[in-house]
Amino acid sequence: AKEAGRDTLRFFDPAMQAQLQQRARLEADLRQALPRGEFRLHYQPQVGGDGRMTGVEALLRWAHPAHGMVSPGDFIPLAEENRLIVPIGGWVLETACRQLAAWAADPATAELTISVNVSPVQFREAGFAEQVLATLARTGAPPTRLKLEVTESLFVDDRDEARKTMLCLKEHGVTFSLDDFGTGYSSLSYLKRLPLDQLKIDQSFVRDLLEDEASAAIVASTIALSESLQLEVIAEGVETEAQRAWLMAQGCQAFQGYFFGRPGPVESLPLQA
Ligand code: C2E
Ligand code: CA
Ligand code: CA
Ligand code: CA
Repeated sequence: AKEAGRDTLRFFDPAMQAQLQQRARLEADLRQALPRGEFRLHYQPQVGGDGRMTGVEALLRWAHPAHGMVSPGDFIPLAEENRLIVPIGGWVLETACRQLAAWAADPATAELTISVNVSPVQFREAGFAEQVLATLARTGAPPTRLKLEVTESLFVDDRDEARKTMLCLKEHGVTFSLDDFGTGYSSLSYLKRLPLDQLKIDQSFVRDLLEDEASAAIVASTIALSESLQLEVIAEGVETEAQRAWLMAQGCQAFQGYFFGRPGPVESLPLQA
């Protein structure tokens, strides 16, 4: 009886009820966001060893009519739960491909790549590869300039399915980056089985690498691992010159972070007019 009483109390907890209500409101707003045109894509520079921009990562922003800019960390988990991430992710892909097609028309920007984050929910949707190929064809974006960022969680269950989808897209020139590398729980054995092109060192390791020996060791090992597996490696979350110099000395040749540029609308990118 005591147990049941506690459960009942917990169920009618006003704080929890308020939280549920807030969540329901966010979900209702999220459903309207796409038809109302409230999403934006921001772009953050990725630079090479010589400091020149080689491409960008596309980062989703939600311009909420009442709350202003809502960050993806606040709505993507919900969008994954209710599968709204599928149409939202389709919009991201379409918008990024339109940008790629515009850049392709100018020799000054034709080589730039766009890295697009793909949720596992979106990636596992039937016909994902076909959808990407159709978007590339429709927009006229060069497939070799599109990089898809996937996370380790994608490979936990249906590794063979994921591999098939990747191979199909790779055949057309699309490349793959493994995002947040080192933060997942999966073993390293999948690395040799998957057709990846790039490892992306997670920003949590980059942030601490000058203060914390374990982070430094993880970053150094990741750079060495990518070399021996013949994968590109990029460090994200680079905020200081000291971090850049340390990474360069370890052999890292690609960087992304506030030190080089914050995410912003396409007009904010350092492109020649
Ligand atoms: P992520 O893919 O790991 O993206 C990197 C995050 O770090 C971005 O946060 C970026 O703004 C931030 N960042 C970049 N440079 C620095 C730096 O030097 N220091 C620090 N402290 N942070 C830096 P953002 O834009 O808030 O995105 C958060 C997450 O939301 C992303 O993490 C990604 O997982 C997800 N996300 C963003 N856009 C999309 C999208 O279009 N589709 C999907 N499925 N997920 C997305
Ligand atoms: Ca990413
Ligand atoms: Ca990341
Ligand atoms: Ca992250």
